Amino acid sequence: MYATDLRTVPFNRTYIADNELDYLTEAVRGHSTCGDGPFTRRATVLVEQITGAGQALLTTSCTHALEMSAILLDLRPGDEVITPSFTFMSTANAFALRGAVPVFVDCRPDTLNLDERRLEAAITERTRAVVVVHYAGVACAMDEIGELARRYGLAVIEDNAHGLGGRYRGRPLGSFGCLATQSFHETKNIQCGEAGALLVNDTALTERAEIVREKGTDRSRFYRGQVDKYRWIDIGSSYLPSDVLAAQLTAQLEAFDTIQARRHEVWDRYHEELADWAAGNGAGQPTVPDDRAHPAHLYYLLMPDLDHRQALIAHLAERGVQAVFHYQPLHSSPAGIRYGRTAPGGCPVTEQVTDRLVRLPLFAGLDEPGVTRVIDAVRTYEVS
Ligand SMILES: *Cc1c(COP(=O)(O)O)cnc(C)c1O
Repeated sequence: MYATDLRTVPFNRTYIADNELDYLTEAVRGHSTCGDGPFTRRATVLVEQITGAGQALLTTSCTHALEMSAILLDLRPGDEVITPSFTFMSTANAFALRGAVPVFVDCRPDTLNLDERRLEAAITERTRAVVVVHYAGVACAMDEIGELARRYGLAVIEDNAHGLGGRYRGRPLGSFGCLATQSFHETKNIQCGEAGALLVNDTALTERAEIVREKGTDRSRFYRGQVDKYRWIDIGSSYLPSDVLAAQLTAQLEAFDTIQARRHEVWDRYHEELADWAAGNGAGQPTVPDDRAHPAHLYYLLMPDLDHRQALIAHLAERGVQAVFHYQPLHSSPAGIRYGRTAPGGCPVTEQVTDRLVRLPLFAGLDEPGVTRVIDAVRTYEVS
């Protein structure tokens, strides 16, 4: 389970849950491996329990769940969808694929989430939806965002790739948007390599979501015996993961509490044991407002500038610790410029954060000596 056997503390290493290999064998031995099999049903129930979502549909990725969301909203070319600039490209790409225009809003300097104070200025006659990303699983200001969305008649979609198990004012992330998306990519807390889920909270979208996921057909109803043949009903695509992946995912979801407990221990040690170093070196640590519970998805430090960020990553590499950075701003990316537009005021905070952020190793299999090694390596770096 532990990482002390490795010469380098890797940035990420998948955790193998107790039943994972047994379930995989069972799925293969079952002689039926297509989507929506017995493990898909088990994993779906577990995802619904953790997120409080009305309906969960397993998908081949979070990217695909976002693409399904864009189809379900009936977006037309020229419609505008507000997204943060500081996020993974799929958050915007899914909507650009439907001809919609992503409108990029800057992030807050504390939570690094879409800055709700800049949201209203980004809304136009053509705005149809707001896609929020709960960065590091720390919730966006959902009350303020929900209120604006209601006032302007906008759909809210949660890209909850980081936020499985997170809460805002006691309520689980993934239960706020009419639609929300999860990722079970290898780099996420719960993973099976490549998969995701679409959470449908608006019951008006339930039936169509199933159709869009099944190549635009009513095959799901056919399998349930509700229709005597299945036909092409709507546009859609092939968004079902194999039941073999769902078997791996079921085992991971059953181990959710164990995985989360260990991730929190690692996160908490970084946060406490690096506090003095951060204060003494002008580095920032994550901000978690009191009304939010985060799921220990990632731990980051904000260095004073790009040079120190690069130097810290090199310093850690020399000491056998693999640290990484992420999110090149979308508003200034080639596709962002071609397909999107930047909201008034630009994205100055995103541009700064992009240069300054370092992510430390965080995975359930990281043992205490591994965490100590990371902390010691960071502490020997001095910002002069
Ligand atoms: C990981 C991630 C995605 C994409 O997830 P996939 O399952 O790999 O498609 C989308 N959005 C965010 C914020 C992510 O972190």
